[in-house]
Amino acid sequence: MAHTTFTPEGQKTESFRLLSGHKIPAVGLGTWRSGSEASHAVFTALVEGGYRHIDTAWEYGDQNEVGVGMKRAIHAGIERRDLFVTSKLWCTELSPERVRPALLNTLQQLQSDYLDLYLIHWPFRLREGASKPPMAGDVLEFDMEGVWREMEKLVKDNLVRSIGVCNFTLTKLNKLLGFADLIPSVCQMEMHPGWRNDKMLQLCRMNGIHVTAYSPLGSQEGGRDLIHDQTVERIAKKLNKTPGQVLVKWGLQRGTSVIPKSSNPERIKENIKVFDWVIPDQDFEALSSISDQKRVLDGEDMFVNKSEGPFRSVADLWDHED
Ligand code: NDP
Repeated sequence: MAHTTFTPEGQKTESFRLLSGHKIPAVGLGTWRSGSEASHAVFTALVEGGYRHIDTAWEYGDQNEVGVGMKRAIHAGIERRDLFVTSKLWCTELSPERVRPALLNTLQQLQSDYLDLYLIHWPFRLREGASKPPMAGDVLEFDMEGVWREMEKLVKDNLVRSIGVCNFTLTKLNKLLGFADLIPSVCQMEMHPGWRNDKMLQLCRMNGIHVTAYSPLGSQEGGRDLIHDQTVERIAKKLNKTPGQVLVKWGLQRGTSVIPKSSNPERIKENIKVFDWVIPDQDFEALSSISDQKRVLDGEDMFVNKSEGPFRSVADLWDHED
């Protein structure tokens, strides 16, 4: 359930309580492919948009810029303790001894003493220098338990407040739940009306795990153009909102936090104006019935090697659950 609060500027906002006890703001700024614009996007989001949640990852290559944007916002009067900063452990670092150095490097890039949330980015371990798509020997065995134990230690050592995973399946989440001392607070997954992934949402709900919806607008280049989807456009027009706002709100009404990416100041501010209206039931149902359910980010280019394996198809990556 979302909790409504107000920013010091009086702006209405919402957050969700995590298993760790901390709160995650309902809308965050995505930063994948923001590149050199990331610092400006982060500053605009925090200072002008009222965002308090930033999503980044070592693999995006923009953490230095994100750090600069946060630092400038802090100089402008925003308190670090009011921010919720997420980063992710990349696939080349998925062995126990590499977890802590990777986190320390991320903290340095972000110019921060701690992270609010650290996520396993993808549940596949890659050799450093792996090709895309991977060559034989590029995808290595992943010691999930060993890595998770190290993530748990980061929490105990106050370097990270909450931990979680991304891109997990029912099989992988159940495996993790079998040995975890700290249950993941968050599972971050692709979710939008074109890929609802109801089964993962349900498993997370049953275990009290909060879900963050990534690529809520259908993602970027090569993604799915939900902004111009007929149903989305029709409902946006009817509610006098933009398609972007309707897509963000759909995710919030499902109980997920949502992290739309934009590096355009107007769209950054637009995407968070979603707290003082609702999508009526009938329209919510129409959005939840969009056909042709399909992932945009299926991981094929990063992890599938059709002849050598160990993952020979997209279905292999997702444990044949889709
Ligand atoms: P989104 O679904 O957020 O879509 C971003 C695209 O939509 C950009 O091209 C952006 O362009 C455009 N856009 C933004 N707002 C609007 C609007 N109001 N109207 C029209 N177009 C708009 O894509 P992402 O795939 O980037 O997902 C969001 C975030 O989720 C990522 O940035 C990243 O932080 C996270 N993520 C996590 C993953 C994981 O494995 N854990 C995988 C993928 C994403 P412009 O910038 O010009 O506004």
